[in-house]
Amino acid sequence: MKITIIGGGMAGLSSAYLLTKLARNLTKDRDKDLEIQVLESAKEVGGRCKAFVLKDSFKDSFKDSFKGESNRKTDNCPHIIFKAQVYGMIEELGITDNFYHLENGFEFLDQDEYFTYNPSQNKLWAMTHKKFAWGLQDYKALFKLACNLKIFRKNKTVAQIFAKSKIYKKFWYPLCLAIMNDKPENSSADIFYNTFKYLIKRGFSSFNIYKPCNNWSDDFFHPLTKYLENQNVKIKTNTKITDITTIKSDYIILATPLSQTLKLLANNLADDQVSHNPITSIHYQLDSKLEDTLNQYKGLTHIYNRDNNLDHDLWFSINNNIISTVHSSFADVDVDYFKRILAHNLKIKPSLILDSKKIINKHATLNHSQENLNKVQKILKSTKADNILICGDWSSSDTFPTTIESSFISALRIQAKIKNLIYEKK
Ligand SMILES: Cc1cc2nc3c(=O)[nH]c(=O)nc-3n(C[C@H](O)[C@H](O)[C@H](O)COP(=O)(O)OP(=O)(O)OC[C@H]3O[C@@H](n4cnc5c(N)ncnc54)[C@H](O)[C@@H]3O)c2cc1C
Repeated sequence: MKITIIGGGMAGLSSAYLLTKLARNLTKDRDKDLEIQVLESAKEVGGRCKAFVLKDSFKDSFKDSFKGESNRKTDNCPHIIFKAQVYGMIEELGITDNFYHLENGFEFLDQDEYFTYNPSQNKLWAMTHKKFAWGLQDYKALFKLACNLKIFRKNKTVAQIFAKSKIYKKFWYPLCLAIMNDKPENSSADIFYNTFKYLIKRGFSSFNIYKPCNNWSDDFFHPLTKYLENQNVKIKTNTKITDITTIKSDYIILATPLSQTLKLLANNLADDQVSHNPITSIHYQLDSKLEDTLNQYKGLTHIYNRDNNLDHDLWFSINNNIISTVHSSFADVDVDYFKRILAHNLKIKPSLILDSKKIINKHATLNHSQENLNKVQKILKSTKADNILICGDWSSSDTFPTTIESSFISALRIQAKIKNLIYEKK
């Protein structure tokens, strides 16, 4: 059986990984049949998660800081994951040393006030055991959360049900800002419920959050690609598919973002009916000679700043001497303006910060309102084609918010479908 996967992002490569596992578990004659190829339009795999090499001019300006490194990379923005199913793949690949557990969580700065996002196992445990730390609202929210009756959350927003609870403040609110770039209060109560239930089902340790030590490309995609190639998966980069009818395969897996998927299926559905959250990341560099400033912020991985004067949010993270800012506004992000804000926060002159790279993600994540999620489900139902299977973070938004985890969940579904198809064929 020949399978072509279009898109070499988290969903496409996870599908390839899970299909190689499936092939090994099948009987030998079936194993011979499974031929997998991945076609990726970009020159490197990784999709929205891949890391970027910094500008050359930048490196010249800060020669001393680079200490001879020629290929310094930075992530699109600090991508974190839960210790859920995708972490299982990291364990199986034997690359857990490439990731670290954010034991102290993400540190945030909201205006001038710091707070930490730490949904870890230990914190949750402590929360449930400090009898008097919980108020009536928390018990009410927990009851509603635990209650399987859909009536409580049907067409409700998270804020309508959980806004006053600690679960909302400590778990959902920062999750939306740090990972989903979505408005916490507008999300569907259903997706909140599903996320919490999904993580609880996998045990309390799945609430622990992880991050690659260097960047996603070096720490994850390169070892995964190597593994796949050893398993005879063919990965072709620089291969943009515009017409799927030209692909001769038994099954085609579309592991592409929603807009691309609809184009490739050439159907009349417009993805502009569905609303996405854009993210623009700008990476700046700080001279390593500014040791005092760097030491002051050492260990600080993520800062969040919601400035009332801005109509968008601003995050910045410091990783060695790279500062990344992330903006939820797409149009005309003013690099210099944010540089001045950064300089103000770091209490240094703007001239000591150089800009390096601007990465625009028009469709970074989905808007998780119930109305929007319903539209996605409608599109999914109407895009059924015989030998085409749909994958990608957005296609699992009924289970988990559009994240790395939802990409992996979509790949698990593909694995199950292909398994059924193989047995049906026999
Ligand atoms: C700035 C930012 C921060 C984020 N932070 C987090 C976070 O902290 N934690 C988290 O879990 N998630 C985070 N996310 C979401 C996460 O990155 C995505 O959910 C996930 O990477 C989606 O993977 P995917 O494989 O479904 O799609 P993609 O990564 O978009 O992969 C699709 C691939 O298909 C390729 N492609 C498209 N069209 C074609 C074509 N016609 N032919 C061939 N190839 C094609 C693309 O080049 C791409 O490589 C963030 C996203 C962004 C943008």
